[in-house]
Amino acid sequence: MKKVLLLATGGTIACTHSEEGLTPGMSGDGILELLPELREGFAIESRDILNLDSSNIQPEEWQRIAEKVAELIEEGWAEGVILTHGTDTMAYTASALSFMLENIPLPVVLTGSQLPLTDPLSDGLENIRTALAMAASGHSGVFVAFNRQILLGTRAVKVRTTNFQAFESVNVKPVGWIDSRGLNIREGLLPKADGPFQLRSQLCKEVVLIKLIPG
Ligand code: ASP
Repeated sequence: MKKVLLLATGGTIACTHSEEGLTPGMSGDGILELLPELREGFAIESRDILNLDSSNIQPEEWQRIAEKVAELIEEGWAEGVILTHGTDTMAYTASALSFMLENIPLPVVLTGSQLPLTDPLSDGLENIRTALAMAASGHSGVFVAFNRQILLGTRAVKVRTTNFQAFESVNVKPVGWIDSRGLNIREGLLPKADGPFQLRSQLCKEVVLIKLIPG
């Protein structure tokens, strides 16, 4: 049985109704309780690291997530990690983790949803299923799983706010997809390790964004 660890960080997928409207209130265990069928064929555990709307996720949170994943690698139980995360900044976290977790020896798969898991029309279940397939695939790297596609963490961009096809892969095809054969992988696009795993959690804050526009 493949061992997968779900790390919960909040986002719409974990939202429940509160007096202030939708807030990310569901724990990792709460997510797994809603999806009992996922436990068939997999050993899944969950841990909570954050409970945030992803618009509040900053480089400090990337560091916390990267350190947690490094801890899990050290523990050695998990063969793959699913990171539930809000969609608004998921691509930024995925990209940062891709560089912070150098030569990562297991799959870390970020996923979320456009509608909370508690909504009967939610895309969350499908996205977690896709993430689970990738997390249990043995293909190492940082990925985004969304709408039955697997994107490289360094290439994913959120391009739609309401459509379930929320993410696209920039300048390279998705690294994987689900169809009636199950999970398909473009092996040539997978990240290749060129040394031992290293946690690179120090980030330089002296960064300026310069936008160049015509006129
Ligand atoms: N505002 C939410 C977030 O990024 C949107 C979502 O999860 O889809 O946390």
